Amino acid sequence: MNNLTIDMLLDKVKQYNQSEVEYVKSAYDLAFQLHKGQFRQSGEPYIIHPLNVAYTLACMYADRDTICAGLLHDVLEDSDFTKKGIETIFNKDVANLVDGVTKISRMNFSTKQAQNLANTRKIITSLENDVRIVIIKLADRLHNMRTLEYKRPEKQQENALETMELFAPLAYYIGAYQIKSELEDISFRYLCPEKYQKISDLRVINTSQNNEEITKMMVKIKRTMMKNGIIGDVNIRVKNVYGIYKQLKEGHDINNIHDLFSIKIKAKNISDCYQVLGLIHQLYKPVNNKFKDYICNPKTNMYQSLHTTLFCPNGNLVQTQIRTYEMDDIDTYGLCAYWRTYRGNARAIMQEKLTKECQFYESLVDLDSSFTDNEEFINQVRNNLLSKQIYVYDACGNIIELPLGSTINDIYFKIDVSCGNLPVVNGEKVSPSYILKPKDRVKFLKKGTSY
Ligand code: MN
Repeated sequence: MNNLTIDMLLDKVKQYNQSEVEYVKSAYDLAFQLHKGQFRQSGEPYIIHPLNVAYTLACMYADRDTICAGLLHDVLEDSDFTKKGIETIFNKDVANLVDGVTKISRMNFSTKQAQNLANTRKIITSLENDVRIVIIKLADRLHNMRTLEYKRPEKQQENALETMELFAPLAYYIGAYQIKSELEDISFRYLCPEKYQKISDLRVINTSQNNEEITKMMVKIKRTMMKNGIIGDVNIRVKNVYGIYKQLKEGHDINNIHDLFSIKIKAKNISDCYQVLGLIHQLYKPVNNKFKDYICNPKTNMYQSLHTTLFCPNGNLVQTQIRTYEMDDIDTYGLCAYWRTYRGNARAIMQEKLTKECQFYESLVDLDSSFTDNEEFINQVRNNLLSKQIYVYDACGNIIELPLGSTINDIYFKIDVSCGNLPVVNGEKVSPSYILKPKDRVKFLKKGTSY
């Protein structure tokens, strides 16, 4: 936001953390002093940047120390102020967060110089110390991308590429879908301006053509829910431009993208979600093979929802996503949603969720311990973690995430093989070099067992 003021930030913080507004204000005052006389390329006083970063964080209900670190994130880089100084005035956590963000801010994912490789490794492994460092960095990158027009064209390309390759996937992996979508679209606009424009126009036309029909459906769904005593919200979401681009590239026609439009239904609890599913299937016919239960089978980035694709009365398709309010917060903000739920204790819970439930993180730790060479480590992360993923099922129906092109050999260490080591996919015996396909059901059996 261009005309963001400190009062707007403080008002936001006041909504959920009345008692610590003064503390935040003192971080702003210090940042203001230290950035005095510095300007952004847009010509605005520099303070507008940390203020925007802190505001994005406050929108996610970030804790006090994270907001303070957001305000101070560039002071070590741009002034003589020290980490010790921050610790003395504020506390150790704020100092560590600012220091963590500073250490990774010089990184450059798109060049191969030794220093850049080392820094890139730092950003990726800093998830391990405190996931909040990465979240502040994402908020920082988001504001820099939103104001990319003021940079030189070479810088724009470099930042857009790095955002597409590193920051958008990172946002996805911590589950922050809203940030991921925005980062992708801005990057795409700079990387392929003509394609961006074309698809963006197509999206507008298609939205206006289907608007009336979908609005009618939404009204009908809402009415049916009310009649059945279910309280909830019904909204529409249109797929982001880059998401549409990827579908078109795979050969889909824009009218056949089954989730171009999503009707999002939020309900109070899980049993209401399943009841809504039954109700809408009676209103509109579902496409049978498009139903997905991510409530019982969460995605590997913790996403939960029921997905079903419906036939609209005009013959087009519309995806419907049904979930609880809590699940919707996680879809929007990912790990950061726990700030809202757990306030002061959120940090420990976020760190716990990341290390226990996020397959991305597990794989990262594996790669970190297997590769001492920075370049090799980054290549592995790029090829194994940030590339296109597929999902397969183990014998119990758990979802396993793997890079496209993975084989039985790659999955061997990821699933329970205590039953044996004879690979069976979808009920058929396969060789260890079998290349896994999406939704394969993989199990390992003892030799001689029937399958
Ligand atoms: Mn910054």
